[in-house]
Amino acid sequence: MDKAKLIWFNGNIIPWEDANIHVMSHILHYGSGVFEGIRCYKIKNSSAIFRLDEHIDRLFNSAALYGIKIPFSKKSITNGCTNIIKKNNLEECYIRPIAFYGYDTLGVNPKECPINIAIGVFHWGEYLGDGALEKGVNVTISKWKKFHYTSMPSTAKGCGQYVNSMLAVEDAKRRGFDEAILLNQEGNISEGSGQNIFYISNNTLFTNDEKSSILLGITRDSIIQISKDLNYEVIIKNIKQEDLLNADEVFFTGTASEVTPICKIDQELINYGKPGEITLKLQKKYFEAIHGKYSKFSAWLTSI
Ligand code: PMP
Repeated sequence: MDKAKLIWFNGNIIPWEDANIHVMSHILHYGSGVFEGIRCYKIKNSSAIFRLDEHIDRLFNSAALYGIKIPFSKKSITNGCTNIIKKNNLEECYIRPIAFYGYDTLGVNPKECPINIAIGVFHWGEYLGDGALEKGVNVTISKWKKFHYTSMPSTAKGCGQYVNSMLAVEDAKRRGFDEAILLNQEGNISEGSGQNIFYISNNTLFTNDEKSSILLGITRDSIIQISKDLNYEVIIKNIKQEDLLNADEVFFTGTASEVTPICKIDQELINYGKPGEITLKLQKKYFEAIHGKYSKFSAWLTSI
């Protein structure tokens, strides 16, 4: 990790090395926390965080779904994000706020465990590897299924939920793929280990929603809005494996992965193994939006 010098921890700005917790903390044993993944980009003459308010809203919604009462206002966390970037003198970075149960009891019920919150910032390049945005990625349909939304709140970014994602992506990597796609309990497409999925057929975009046990991605929403602005129709529905295999184009969206073309699913090529034309157009528009060059969506940026 390309760590920064300072970190925001429970309202204080302290050296990165000093932001420690006890090994008997509740979070470590049970994954009892919620987090966010946000990006800050260099824009003309300054830097800006992409869709910060929506990410902070989702952090608080995730916390509410787990009954975690964050002991700070949304405004303090929002200011914490901008402040820690400024203090570290970073132009571009990934931002990771996390709220979690600390050290008190090891009963599964967290009872009086203190709630800690940290905001780490650090440099993070192309999440799916160098060249992934340009060349696209090869993915596999995982043998690990996505947990059902009736088992855990899939619309929350809960720390423990990511063990499911980790199993899928580790298995995919071991078998030589870049990423995994998880099916849901109904056998339909859910999402990637940390990405939502779109496919394009006859110039129309298709994606699924929370009924398919997905996290409602903020990049997903951005792409839906950008596509509509470009006069593409977007249909929300359950997605079947065959839909992806027969699609003209398929791509992932996510804060870390941005807009990444998918060129191969297991042994099947998508668009002859090349990133699709509409995918690349949407990717270009998304990059314009994050860099403050898409005036219609300039409200998505919070200047540092
Ligand atoms: N699904 C999962 C499981 C994720 O972890 C992420 C990354 N946060 C996404 C989808 C995409 O969400 P977003 O666009 O808000 O980053």
